Amino acid sequence: MAISHSGGFPRIGANRELKKAQEAYWKGELSKERLLEEGKRLRLQHWAVQKEAGLDLIPVGDFAWYDQMLNHSLMLGAVPARFGADSDCEDVDTLFRMARGRAPGGTPAAACEMTKWFDTNYHYIVPELHKGQTLKLSSTEIIRETREALDAGFKVKPTLIGPLTWLWLGKVKGEAFNRLELLDDVIEVYGQVLNELAKLGVEWVQIDEPILVLDLPTEWHQAFESTYNRLQGKDLKILLATYFGGLNGTTTTVVNLPVEGLHIDLVRDAEQLTAILDRLPSYKVLSAGVVNGRNIWKADIRSIVSKLQEASERLGNRLWVAPSCSLLHTPVDLECETDLDDELKSWFAFAVQKCQEVAIIASLLSGNQSPEVQAALATSDRAIETRSQSSRIHNKAVQKRVAGISSGDDQRNLPYEKRAVVQASRLKLPLFPTTTIGSFPQTVAIRKQRRLFRKGELSKRDYVAAMQKEILDTVARQEALGLDVLVHGEAERNDMVEYFGEQLNGFAFTSNGWVQSYGSRCVKPPIIIGDVSRPEPMTVNWSRFAQDQTSKWMKGMLTGPVTILCWSFLREDVDRSVSCLQLALALRDEVVDLEKAGIGIIQIDEPAIREGLPLRKEDWPDYLNWAVKSFRIAASGVQDETQIHTHMCYSEFNDIIEYIAAMDADVITIETSRSDMELLDAFEQFEYPNEIGPGVYDIHSPNVPESQWMKQLMKKAAEKIPPQRLWVNPDCGLKTRDWPEVEAALSNMVQVANELRDELA
Ligand SMILES: [Zn+2]
Repeated sequence: MAISHSGGFPRIGANRELKKAQEAYWKGELSKERLLEEGKRLRLQHWAVQKEAGLDLIPVGDFAWYDQMLNHSLMLGAVPARFGADSDCEDVDTLFRMARGRAPGGTPAAACEMTKWFDTNYHYIVPELHKGQTLKLSSTEIIRETREALDAGFKVKPTLIGPLTWLWLGKVKGEAFNRLELLDDVIEVYGQVLNELAKLGVEWVQIDEPILVLDLPTEWHQAFESTYNRLQGKDLKILLATYFGGLNGTTTTVVNLPVEGLHIDLVRDAEQLTAILDRLPSYKVLSAGVVNGRNIWKADIRSIVSKLQEASERLGNRLWVAPSCSLLHTPVDLECETDLDDELKSWFAFAVQKCQEVAIIASLLSGNQSPEVQAALATSDRAIETRSQSSRIHNKAVQKRVAGISSGDDQRNLPYEKRAVVQASRLKLPLFPTTTIGSFPQTVAIRKQRRLFRKGELSKRDYVAAMQKEILDTVARQEALGLDVLVHGEAERNDMVEYFGEQLNGFAFTSNGWVQSYGSRCVKPPIIIGDVSRPEPMTVNWSRFAQDQTSKWMKGMLTGPVTILCWSFLREDVDRSVSCLQLALALRDEVVDLEKAGIGIIQIDEPAIREGLPLRKEDWPDYLNWAVKSFRIAASGVQDETQIHTHMCYSEFNDIIEYIAAMDADVITIETSRSDMELLDAFEQFEYPNEIGPGVYDIHSPNVPESQWMKQLMKKAAEKIPPQRLWVNPDCGLKTRDWPEVEAALSNMVQVANELRDELA
């Protein structure tokens, strides 16, 4: 019998119950007791759902009040000193203070840093490590939850993030040191936890070491053997889990680590199966991650079973079946989707359905031919069949257009130096031109109008009139401030990806397909279901209206192809580069239409270009080449006199600067204020050739920036970049801020630009 299991289930609840409880607790509207009860209720419900779906082994340890990495930091007692030396690691308030800086109980302190979990859109709380730190078992949440599940009668497999992954993802604070110096302490704590779990009668524990799919320094690779040697023999068995990629080059070492089982991601790397089968010691379990934990498509069960046939024959009971990774990255339950049409619904599988698929695959591998299993197989076959034929997915005209992309399509006519001259004589902007990144405050009134329009309670005409009024107001305020290049403010946009996805063919949207992004924040990514095209202009009317209200230049505002791609669920039947090129062509048409409407400056935002980077460096050039090409295709349909801007945030540029330059945007605006303009070093060293707007103040803070401080930053920038190529702008969009602080900040910013001009004149 092939065992079916999972490495984790979404913790947020089918109706985001966890989010609601967390936020109510933070606001003081829910007691701590009730919060804890709600967590317990969700855990029990999720275990029951997975058992009912047919899984043999149910994960414990995937629940978190905020983040699973943070759980481990508390387990190890890695609480930064600023939260108080005697912080109670068992108290959720300690956890919330680390994650958010504050909680209903305890003293506030600066929150811990948060960053992306591998190449997902989930963010974890970064462990803070310092030299000489003592780590000791400080939270036994995992033991309590395991007991809770066992008491409720579930057959469980506790799941932990591995000691090496936890350390690798930690960040050194203070004096530099080798993080591996802390490994002894970490192993000691894990050893204690494993002992406790063994006492509860647990047979299997899963330990996740996703860093095994990264390019690791040799020293770290070598640390695996000694670490798992020391964790061996705890009276329970360890399933070592890798995911988000293949083992690549380290297969022999990893299959021989002293553990009883190995989980591999066969969705990301199907090829690795043969090599692993050939090397797997005869006592070991192999868990095949075959159902995609990172997407929403129904699995091709027949094909999966056929690909696992040989493994099944060779391994027998030692073959397990699972999703490729934790289901944290998928929405909870397709049954909650009431607005999707039947055909779309028949193509999708969310976490609950993915558990069912895993169970069916395990049954088929075990020779189970029951009517239920046969029916599930037939349903899967039908979904695959209709998807392969559907005109909602396959659009010949789009495919033909992509195939016809020629070498000139991603080139502007003139090189930048010559375009700059043409643009300067047309745009007639002053030295140090001032602008903003695009969005202005999304007030309660704006959100209300959008909501009423969505619900059908506001007519299209009234909605457009309301939004135009907002644009008028935004334009007037910018003129009063004396900004040089204006924006329309984006009042009509709910989100920078969804707004475009909703107007493009080839996208689908869920009404409840929430996925946790961090803490209580959930996102509902659009789904790219098929070939992408633009039935009609998306932003032109708004931009034209805005331009008509002013004699200054109005920027057209678009989200770039790579960013739309990175923040959507992807197709599985084509490479993501194909969808990206299709998006590029759709946006190219929009850019050309904006130009025709008299918009002389068009910004194509690509904040996510770095997020799309593959996990292994050897795969970077391929990705960056098609990503840059896609941007250029979107940007290159216009005349040389039209100025193309792009914006990126949260980006470190050093290792990809040549590709950033290759995007050939006339102007790039970037986030630099928090790094004190240090990010500009990459642009300076590389001799970045085009114009740059280094953000002069951090829009994430409500503080109004001082002129003198911004001026210092600009002077610092002018030491690195010729002043003729510098713009003055904030770090990012202003939609989360209030008007009074925005106006005060921008007024200071405009003053800085004026002073700089005077000084240079
Ligand atoms: Zn930004």
